[in-house]
Amino acid sequence: MSPKQALAFVKKHGVVLQAARGPIPSLAEAVAGERIRGSWWGHPKGQEIFFAAEAIGESPDVLVCKLVEGKVTYVHRRLWPALVKLASSFPRAQLAKVWSEHTASGAHRARRVAFPAWVPAGVAREAQRLSLAEAQSLLSPLLAKHPRSWASASPGSGDARAGPMPRRSLTLRRAVQVLRKHQGPPEPPPTTDPFELILWENVAYMAAPARRREAFELLKSSIGASPQAILSARRQALERVTSRGILKATFAAKLRECARVALDDFGGDLGAVIRLPLDRAKRALRSFPGIGEPGAEKILLFAGRQALLAPDSNALRVLVRLGLVREGSSYSRTYAAARALAGGFSTNLRLMREAHQLLQRHGQSLCKRAALRCTECPLARECAHARRESRRSARE
Ligand code: SF4
Repeated sequence: MSPKQALAFVKKHGVVLQAARGPIPSLAEAVAGERIRGSWWGHPKGQEIFFAAEAIGESPDVLVCKLVEGKVTYVHRRLWPALVKLASSFPRAQLAKVWSEHTASGAHRARRVAFPAWVPAGVAREAQRLSLAEAQSLLSPLLAKHPRSWASASPGSGDARAGPMPRRSLTLRRAVQVLRKHQGPPEPPPTTDPFELILWENVAYMAAPARRREAFELLKSSIGASPQAILSARRQALERVTSRGILKATFAAKLRECARVALDDFGGDLGAVIRLPLDRAKRALRSFPGIGEPGAEKILLFAGRQALLAPDSNALRVLVRLGLVREGSSYSRTYAAARALAGGFSTNLRLMREAHQLLQRHGQSLCKRAALRCTECPLARECAHARRESRRSARE
């Protein structure tokens, strides 16, 4: 493992032990590729482990501390706001930044900066903006394996506002588990091809999922889903497809425009587009009609390129009501908060797709914009909105 790969390993897992065996991954064993008996210094890959540990220790993006069971632990910067938010869950000494220095005589001298002196101002501000639920979700892999830390989570935070309903700590992981059990496994979109996923977004505006599927199947069977086939199709044939939703003429024209953009700007092949770095891929996908940032992220998710939650407006509403995401002053801020939450959830594409679909469906079926059906909701006992409503009705 090169030093660069070692840093990527810490970034991926968020919290990693240097060499000790514990409830989270160990860098030394990852480099060794096997369980290490005794000191890693004596392992055939001891030098490689040393260089990896040196690179991590010098990285400004990694906190070296003794967070897990007093053993040398690496915490990636992406989790610092959550760590700061949940600081009272851990012994303060374990949050100090530690390193060792060589003295003139060649001996090692242990050095430390106490918590929170090492916390950058920007991270402290981010921590303030995070809800306790978001922080818990980001650190859930660690907290799940440290029930004592979990149990001591900050009692003074907003999360302690228990109402008449019994209180449980909800995380995105748990919400997804509950919804999976309640709804069953979701049916994925009918394609993983990026251009077809763009068509899927435009094929039946405001249609129910079954009508959208019907429209897409009709498009494929009667016209074809290549840019060339769509551009040579007659307007009436396209409108027969888009009539499964509303504004059939507008969306028939949009299908044509999608085909034109695909051919003129990308040579008819979006395979290379989705392999671009994330920002560039999203910018390219957003040049298609009907594709905003959530749509672009959704295409990258279902094309198998990026494990992004990409919540649509239904899913975002569910996350806010559950108390997992704080509603921002704009849609894009709320969306960004959901992205931060998802960053700590999983890097697994299958899980992320499932979470995307389960949350969306929950927002379409029970957790609707109006006419909520909380009494049928499997998450009601853990939902912030339902607890607030319960307290309000107890007061009236
Ligand atoms: S309890 Fe109500 S508000 Fe909360 S997630 Fe369920 S349906 Fe939505």
